[in-house]
Amino acid sequence: MTDKIDNRTAAVRAGLESDERFGAVMPPIYLTSNFAFEAYDRPRGYDYTRTGNPTRDALADALAELEGGAGATITGSGMAAAALVCQLVDPGQLVLAPVDCYGGTFRLLSRLSARGLLNVRFIDQTDESVLQGAIAEQPRLIWVETPTNPLLRVIDLKQMNALAKQCGALLVVDNTFLSPALLRPIEFGADLVMHSTTNYLNGPSDVLGGAVIAATPQLHEQMQDWSNILGLSGSALDSFLTMRGIRTLHVRLRQHEENALAIADVLQQHQAVAHVYYPGLASDPGHQLARQQQNGFGGMISFDLKGGARAAAEFIAALKLFTLAVSLGGVESLVCHPATMSHAAMDDSGREAAGIGAGLIRLSVGIEATADLVADIQRSLNSLSA
Ligand code: PLP
Repeated sequence: MTDKIDNRTAAVRAGLESDERFGAVMPPIYLTSNFAFEAYDRPRGYDYTRTGNPTRDALADALAELEGGAGATITGSGMAAAALVCQLVDPGQLVLAPVDCYGGTFRLLSRLSARGLLNVRFIDQTDESVLQGAIAEQPRLIWVETPTNPLLRVIDLKQMNALAKQCGALLVVDNTFLSPALLRPIEFGADLVMHSTTNYLNGPSDVLGGAVIAATPQLHEQMQDWSNILGLSGSALDSFLTMRGIRTLHVRLRQHEENALAIADVLQQHQAVAHVYYPGLASDPGHQLARQQQNGFGGMISFDLKGGARAAAEFIAALKLFTLAVSLGGVESLVCHPATMSHAAMDDSGREAAGIGAGLIRLSVGIEATADLVADIQRSLNSLSA
């Protein structure tokens, strides 16, 4: 494929017509753990699936193209991708991570730090003075999520890249929330992009997977090497399913966003709601920045209910079209209570520092009919006791 085609075309056409034997239009699935050698001392292109598999490589090529990277390493989960990135940090070296990062990432970095395998500082990456102070400590790696989870703060990637270059740190962006359909961090100078492909990239909630896309061949080689050493590689079946998912990525995201905008509008007008976090709202502090660096605002919304934990419980119980579940980015709408679910792995002080209160609700807005979702939200808000 050429570099020039639109990402929407690349996502649909990735890996097509690659089957020389039968001319299958879709890339075949190779469910095998090993590959026969041609003869003594003559391996073929692949020998063992932990090290390499054609189905997984087809997905890797597609993601590298969509993100504009030199190569992608496909892992068994988003957390495996995060653990893989951590292999680039040595004991004594510092990771700067967002104070409101994904709970699993918070747990991974905290636990590795507790064992002395790296140092970590969780900071508010929207605060210029905090950032400058942290940069002075010469971090090895700056970990960015944009928008952050669950408060959807938009991080300025140009600024983060300048800071990373200033102190010689690697810039890593977790692009799970937006996907390459809406943001391509490597264009802003990121060295590595990581994903939980479990979410938007796959689409239907039937796969667990992850990926690390490297900007340079050298970093890609290191990621491939560590993935093989640690056995983090994703399965062929999950790679095949994710490949199916990315073909509809762009059209799904259009509907996610249309629904999210309609819901955010209802939320911000309702008296039971104290605050709405959605960069698609013109009133959101991240709106202008999101317009500049993203191709859309995505389908994640968070909001604070004035009635705290009681209101959160009532609201969740009243919903009919939002399933109470962790995870995000599926075609189906989900509701999550971060304090007791996605961010339960954070301790109380971590949650407090991150601004995750008992009344905070996070919605992963699906691709159902807009009017149905809006009506469900409206009715559930109206049902809250005074
Ligand atoms: N990063 C982000 C932003 C996530 O939301 C998630 C999971 O939802 C992960 C990483 C971890 O991914 P996984 O659950 O596939 O291990």
